[in-house]
Amino acid sequence: MNPSRYTKLDDYRDSLGNVDWKAYGAARKASGEECSSCGAFMIFNSGKPQRCVQCADVENDRRLHHDELVRCPACRHTWKPDAEDWDGPGQNGAVCPACNRWFIFVIHPRYSYESPPMGVEE
Ligand SMILES: [Zn+2]
Ligand SMILES: [Zn+2]
Repeated sequence: MNPSRYTKLDDYRDSLGNVDWKAYGAARKASGEECSSCGAFMIFNSGKPQRCVQCADVENDRRLHHDELVRCPACRHTWKPDAEDWDGPGQNGAVCPACNRWFIFVIHPRYSYESPPMGVEE
C-alpha cells in the first residue's frame, strides 16, 4: 500500500497538525524502523518488527550492556531506569519491579564531543 517503507510523520497528524506520537511510534516499531523493545533507531529496517542487538542480548545469560534498559538477574525482567533514582555513574542498587530482587548494576557515563564554531581560536 505505502510505496515508501518508512513511516511518514504526516500520516499521523490530525487536522490541527498535532502528531499522534504513540501511534507513530507503534507504526515505526511495527515496520522495523525502531527496535520493538526499546525504540532504538534501526539502521536496517526489515519491514517487520525486529529488536536491536542489545535487546536480543537480553535473552542471553551473559552480562548485559544496554543503552536504555536494566535487566533483573533473577527473572530477566527489563525496564528503563529513572535516572533520578540513581547515585550516578558507577555501582548502584536496584530493586526489580517484577520480583523485588535487589541487585547491583553499573552506570557507565556517556561521552560526546563538542567543538567550537568555525573560525574561533581559543
Ligand atoms: Zn532495543
Ligand atoms: Zn526480577
